[in-house]
Amino acid sequence: MSDRQPLLRVKELRQYFPIRGGVLGRVQNVVKAVDGITFDVYPGETLSIVGESGCGKSTTGRSILRLQEPTSGEVYFDGDNLLELPRSALRHRRRDMQIIFQDPYSSFNPRQTISQLLNEAMSIQNVVDKPRRRERVIELLEMVGLKAEHIDRYPHEFSGGQRQRIAIARALSVEPKLIVCDEAVSSLDVSVQAQVINLLKKLQRELGLTYIFVAHDLGVVRHISDRIIVMYLGQIAEIGDTRTIFRNPQHPYTRALLSSIPIPDPKQRSRPVPLVGDVPSPINPPAGCPFHTRCPFVMERCAADKPAQHVLSDHQSVACHLVEDGPIDYDALPVTVTV
Ligand code: SF4
Repeated sequence: MSDRQPLLRVKELRQYFPIRGGVLGRVQNVVKAVDGITFDVYPGETLSIVGESGCGKSTTGRSILRLQEPTSGEVYFDGDNLLELPRSALRHRRRDMQIIFQDPYSSFNPRQTISQLLNEAMSIQNVVDKPRRRERVIELLEMVGLKAEHIDRYPHEFSGGQRQRIAIARALSVEPKLIVCDEAVSSLDVSVQAQVINLLKKLQRELGLTYIFVAHDLGVVRHISDRIIVMYLGQIAEIGDTRTIFRNPQHPYTRALLSSIPIPDPKQRSRPVPLVGDVPSPINPPAGCPFHTRCPFVMERCAADKPAQHVLSDHQSVACHLVEDGPIDYDALPVTVTV
């Protein structure tokens, strides 16, 4: 990937939320939802961001699109730093970057038909001449596996999976380059999840789309991702291509997440790492390595020294002191705390 130009470049992105209190409403604390993350997204790839609830993955997606104004950092899209664009220019740029939410119903106006919903998106961005828009809506519905006869129905007349297809059609209506899928399949039944993932893959092949796919389940992202970022407490624990992450996860947290999902061939299962307790609060997160309060391999220095991202290969980098001298041999590694 390194010789290709990224479509999106995220540098040291931070998203802190102040907590106000007292009579004067002064800032009393800060939630560090995203805490200085850096990564690239390449054209035509699916980069998934995974982690437990509260790890900052959804906030990352929304901050990139400035749906939540980031605290600091740089986000380059096709050369422009989005965080420096005036609102009017950003509105124009949004045509290239769309988002699909977990619950599309809440982002639909229940009084609008599907035709009106999709028309609205096209007219805001001035895509497709007005007389041709109805025809285009039908094309979009068919692209996502719905029918022309659905055009004048209302959102409540559709199932959860169909609504997600409508949300995809609405995102496609402005001809974006990048789509952030924010837990887009998380609330669907497993069989419907698979259908929507297959649809997203087909559209990516046909339209050359780039996806940032946010999910809490590594099992779900396996079949759609080219690369995966594992986040923990607002920071990147590990980033790598999907094959490497599944075959040879190096960060103890990645390994713990993988230990909890079924693997079809038990011979391929490496030494499991238990994951106990909850994610600590992102208000005053642990010093040093953010995972040190739950890591079964914790060392004395982990509570004080924040690990750097160590590049193990073109396909993998890991923020853990244990990889300083190369990849970890988990079978030889003693567990240092009883969990
Ligand atoms: Fe565990 Fe220490 Fe590595 Fe953090 S740096 S993951 S606490 S071994």
